[in-house]
Amino acid sequence: METDCLFCKIVNKDIESDFLYEDDTVVVFRDINPHAPIHILIVPKKHIRSINDLTDHDGEIVARMIAVAKKIAKKESINESGYKLLFNVEKGGGQVIFHLHLHLLGGWKKNKS
Ligand code: AMP
Ligand code: ZN
Repeated sequence: METDCLFCKIVNKDIESDFLYEDDTVVVFRDINPHAPIHILIVPKKHIRSINDLTDHDGEIVARMIAVAKKIAKKESINESGYKLLFNVEKGGGQVIFHLHLHLLGGWKKNKS
């Protein structure tokens, strides 16, 4: 736990947040400033700054994040229409919260053509 990390505070429930899902490894909640009709964040409980800081021991965490994203996509009924999974990495990659998180984006209107 990093004391000045917003997502550590959310993980530790120091800041109130509605979790869509929680297990031993990750928590899942809606993005406060959605960039898609459905915009959900999958966040590991362990504080890892970014993809750059992953070690060989973190493989299970990343695998769980992706497995949970898949599960949530189905729960939100966007599995068949499709969705994006996105990691922003460091400032140049658009990362603003330096606690690893996976964006799940979807729910756009179907293209009629
Ligand atoms: P990134 O740019 O990849 O670091 O994404 C950080 C995301 O966290 C942004 O999409 C923000 O809208 C989102 N965010 C920031 N604060 C909160 C919060 N308190 N609850 C939910 N999402 C948040
Ligand atoms: Zn953190």
